[in-house]
Amino acid sequence: MKKHIVVIAGDGIGQEVTAVGKQVLDAIAEKFGHEFTYDEALIGHAAIEATGHPLPEETVTKSKQSDAILFGAVGHPKYDNDPSAKVRPEQGLLGIRKALGLYANLRPIKLFDELLQASSIKPEFLKGADILFFRELTGDVYFGEKGRKDEGDTAYDTMIYSRYEVERIAVKAFEAAMTRRKKLCSVDKANVLESSRLWREVVQEVARRYPEVEVEHQFIDAAAMLLIKDPRRFDVVLTGNLFGDILTDEASQIAGSMGMLASASVGDTTGLYEPIHGSAHDITGKGVANPLASVLSAALMLDISFGMKAEAEAVVNAVDQVLKAGYRTRDIADAQTPTDRILGTEAMGRQILNHLSVQVTA
Ligand code: NAD
Repeated sequence: MKKHIVVIAGDGIGQEVTAVGKQVLDAIAEKFGHEFTYDEALIGHAAIEATGHPLPEETVTKSKQSDAILFGAVGHPKYDNDPSAKVRPEQGLLGIRKALGLYANLRPIKLFDELLQASSIKPEFLKGADILFFRELTGDVYFGEKGRKDEGDTAYDTMIYSRYEVERIAVKAFEAAMTRRKKLCSVDKANVLESSRLWREVVQEVARRYPEVEVEHQFIDAAAMLLIKDPRRFDVVLTGNLFGDILTDEASQIAGSMGMLASASVGDTTGLYEPIHGSAHDITGKGVANPLASVLSAALMLDISFGMKAEAEAVVNAVDQVLKAGYRTRDIADAQTPTDRILGTEAMGRQILNHLSVQVTA
């Protein structure tokens, strides 16, 4: 199969981990007889430095012409400490999501058994947890009207949702639930927020089309608590942009590290695949970033955008094998990990490639 992929590595460790994700895609193409071609594009701080804009038009054009996007991260400490900066790296990410109509963010949270100890939750509550989050990505308070009044002393951001925005992501989430354990939890704050009442109304309507799916509605505060108390009770979780942003970072701790979690942002056209972590400037350039979230993002791309199930499984199995062999990056190592098993970004990438070639040729 021929596929054209745009690599947007972005800022900080985005560059380091995406290089490994791309190597894994190359290895898969070679082993399974596919032809993947690549283009590169700028975003975030890197794009601001080069063009003055966090999302150059060229990046949007290249992305629209591709079959899928492998994304790294955006962000730079310069902007984190300067809330008044008008041009900001994250505008690049929000902009590309909007430009490509990427309204659904899928985040699978599944713990590799070998990493049970890396989580701050007790293993007996955790073993077997397998959650798929659907976070709405192009609406909500992030895109509603915002501004200042009273000479700047009052600020507002508007939480806003339209029926079609809720319906299209709800359909995707229910479809996914049908292929899993047929359970869906919709998260909102319908006791207080009008936009949440519309959210719940629409989810209830869509639910009628999927009578086999067991549906529950939880308020965001209760959901945040239940996620830690009993993560195994969840199968598919469907939620808005703001609540999803917070819940999925909370859920990342179930998996032990931000460095392990991949995500897919999809709409009706080109999909974008990225680690959930940011540009991590505290470790940028040190060669210690965990590349597995980027590797698992590549696996999601193979599965969701290209329908290459066996290829995606080969990647996930390679990660599993490398962890079983005891290899760790610093963020997922513990006191018991022998020092010769603690690898940097590139060395971890080489282990994945080794296991991939052994596994696929065997
Ligand atoms: P972060 O995810 O970059 O880092 C949080 C912590 O996790 C850091 O201690 C970091 O070292 C660690 N970490 C993250 N990824 C890791 C990996 N692959 N391997 C090992 N350790 C890892 O979040 P932050 O520190 O809050 O933000 C840093 C910058 O990233 C900010 O500018 C922020 O705006 C941006 N950001 C971007 C995205 C994105 O591009 N999708 C997401 C979140 C934050």
